[in-house]
Amino acid sequence: MDLTSIIRTIPDHPKPGIMFRDITSLLKHPAGFKYAIDALVNRYEKESFDFIAGIESRGFIFGAPISYALGKGFIPLRKAGKLPGETVSQEYELEYGTDRIEIHKDAFSRGARVLVIDDLIATGGTAEAAVKLIEKLGGVVIEACFIVDLPDLGGANRLSKQGIPTFSLVEFEGE
Ligand code: AMP
Repeated sequence: MDLTSIIRTIPDHPKPGIMFRDITSLLKHPAGFKYAIDALVNRYEKESFDFIAGIESRGFIFGAPISYALGKGFIPLRKAGKLPGETVSQEYELEYGTDRIEIHKDAFSRGARVLVIDDLIATGGTAEAAVKLIEKLGGVVIEACFIVDLPDLGGANRLSKQGIPTFSLVEFEGE
């Protein structure tokens, strides 16, 4: 199935020059959504790992059904101030300013093997922050996976230079 034709593009969102890859058109496409989830379930069903960590908020939509299908626990990596328990946080750069994501301190035990998931990797700043959070708690990131990679923005390269493998279902080149 050609997911690139199911993921719609909204030009100039949220600002001029950005080609926004909108996964809501995939989510409402029953066969397309099923295909995307099944493809990731197939990829990871023989891997040895303990948890899936999804990045707020679109990482939750894809991470939860994959966790369910594979019988793994799901860990939400949330925007600052949302998690109710004791947290560890990690700042990351945005184009203008910084943002912060958090994980519960007791999310998993040291040595846990974790798969990170988000909808899309662009510069890789968000995914790198997710990896740092998991590593701060003594976890091992087995891979970071995405529905969409924008390879020209270098995110997958950035993670692989740090020894973190990445996987994506589709790529949109030229941005
Ligand atoms: P980055 O930290 O640069 O890799 O950006 C990744 C995060 O920003 C993901 O959570 C994406 O949902 C969002 N994002 C960045 N660029 C785009 C884009 N062109 N279309 C849709 N979402 C994007």
